[in-house]
Amino acid sequence: MQKDVSLLKALFKQLSLAVAVIFLLLVAVCIYQMHAHADGVPVLNYHQINDKDENSLTIHTDQFEAEMKYLADNGYHAITPEELLDAWDNGKALPEKPIIITFDDGYADNYKNAYPILKKYNLKGTIFIVTDYLNTYPNYLTWSMASEMLDSGVINIESHTLSHSELDKLETREELDKQLRDSKLAIDWHLHKKAAFIAYPCGSFNKDIEESTLAAGYKGAFTVHYGLAEPTQNRLQLDRVPIFGSNTHTMLRFKLRLLYAPIFGPLDELQRNLRNNGHDFLARLLMVP
Ligand SMILES: [Zn+2]
Repeated sequence: MQKDVSLLKALFKQLSLAVAVIFLLLVAVCIYQMHAHADGVPVLNYHQINDKDENSLTIHTDQFEAEMKYLADNGYHAITPEELLDAWDNGKALPEKPIIITFDDGYADNYKNAYPILKKYNLKGTIFIVTDYLNTYPNYLTWSMASEMLDSGVINIESHTLSHSELDKLETREELDKQLRDSKLAIDWHLHKKAAFIAYPCGSFNKDIEESTLAAGYKGAFTVHYGLAEPTQNRLQLDRVPIFGSNTHTMLRFKLRLLYAPIFGPLDELQRNLRNNGHDFLARLLMVP
């Protein structure tokens, strides 16, 4: 009996040691990740901002305002993608705590709800518009809304293609070129500015898409891959911090996703890979806010 007890004690001691070693290793990995990505810039990725939709692409207006207030109160400075590349490639100085606030698709609620809030907190935003949707569907921006926001200096307008086709599913190179080139031409023509950035619809890209993006005259492109945008990254594969969730979204989730992107980004990718390979149970064990 006494032998059993001392065996159990020894086992418990070894187990505790193993748990402590694993814990310390995890802490070391987290510290390393945060340090290694200290140059990274968060590029927040929103879609709809309103109080009536409950889908995962919507953030409620008061929640959005709380997030913008948090950024303003905590010394973040919102910049444009142009300013980011100017700093990385031409040595221009970045402000303290730079951040890029982006919206995909160009919903009319960006004008009605997000624009006044950004103005109130002195933050700049960038809207990636689907150019064929403007003046076509009532829940998307009109060219006059886009023009007014652009003229205010608060909002920058860039491209999200002509008709939101998933670029890697297009049959021909001509279609791909048209989606990228003609959406840029539409922005240049309607808004008298040179569109220089694109957000890939659904985040899909490959070598052909990157080539076509450059040929169309863009300088940079954003994905929906979760992580910070970093100076060492391919300019045509810039990471973002997707913010989504409607009712399941909380301020805590926002802060965790923003502040610990170098830790949760790789976890998010691992979770997706596990799911894609049918390991749902293992994927569920990973906590990604
Ligand atoms: Zn989209």
